[in-house]
Amino acid sequence: MRAVTLRSHGGPDVVVVEDVPRPRADGPDDVVVALKAAALNHLDLFVVRGLPGASPSFPHVLGADGAGVVEAVGPAVTRVKPGDRVLLNPGVSCQRCEYCLAGEQSLCETYRLLGEHLPGTFAEAVRVPQWSVYPAPPDVSWTDAAAFPLVHLTAWRMLATRAAVRPGERVLIWGIGGGVALAALGIARLLGATVLVTSSSDAKLARARELGAEVTLNHAAADVPREVRRLTGGRGVDVVVDSVGEATWERSLRMLAPGGRLVTCGATTGPRVETDVRRMFWYHHTLLGSTMGNAREFAAVLRLLGAGTLRPVVDSVVPLAEARGALERMASGAHFGKLVLDIAA
Ligand SMILES: [Zn+2]
Repeated sequence: MRAVTLRSHGGPDVVVVEDVPRPRADGPDDVVVALKAAALNHLDLFVVRGLPGASPSFPHVLGADGAGVVEAVGPAVTRVKPGDRVLLNPGVSCQRCEYCLAGEQSLCETYRLLGEHLPGTFAEAVRVPQWSVYPAPPDVSWTDAAAFPLVHLTAWRMLATRAAVRPGERVLIWGIGGGVALAALGIARLLGATVLVTSSSDAKLARARELGAEVTLNHAAADVPREVRRLTGGRGVDVVVDSVGEATWERSLRMLAPGGRLVTCGATTGPRVETDVRRMFWYHHTLLGSTMGNAREFAAVLRLLGAGTLRPVVDSVVPLAEARGALERMASGAHFGKLVLDIAA
């Protein structure tokens, strides 16, 4: 089958499209899904570059997000049957450890992601354990079904579970345009928050306003903490969503209101940050880490997708063979929303 693979680490130029063996449902809980669409995540760029702790065997098939039709199932599979329209939870957990048994699958001792530790979705088919497969809501396109899972699961856990955003609170999201930031905008609005977003692009800020952001700040031009103080009467915001890391961390902490929470799921500019502990204890600030989410949270966001309450923002859709160009677009930061690969085409 055709697949987007790595044979070494580097930039997007090391990515190739080649034929690899089609997976089979050899294990009792295996499900093979014939993919119709897959979606890119920033994770893919990190995998291309090479991540500490992840040493895939080459050729390695990229891609965490995907949706398609069940092609084959192992003998113990009860959740789905061949022909079902499904989408995938990119996180694969063991189902047996202390955390899995407590329903906290993303804390699993052997938590793995499709396309990072396991063969991924940028291919005509993927093999996953049955508990990673969920019915795709009817009336949701293949594009939306593939674009939705990873970023909405991530943003839901960050805002609804970890930061526990309440109606009327102010939430600031750095760098609107990426998939998690846009999912966070939709979810923060759904939870009743007032949303402030930043970008270095006025065009992206204008689009964020159309999606419901009430305050937009160009972080290339404005002193963001000072503007936030001015706009909130000196108070600051209740929650900051910071997946940027080194470049923004200190500013994020400076604009938190008393009792505020900083929630992070990444560090795109670097992981070593400085925290003034005096401000943290005096203002009762909380720092929250978050990665992906559990099965209950996945089911929750899928219901919202099915109801039409949440929908992914899609930047563009290209054929599987043009995955490298899509990765380059993502690396450039020019995109607004999800980049999707059309595999059925
Ligand atoms: Zn586990």
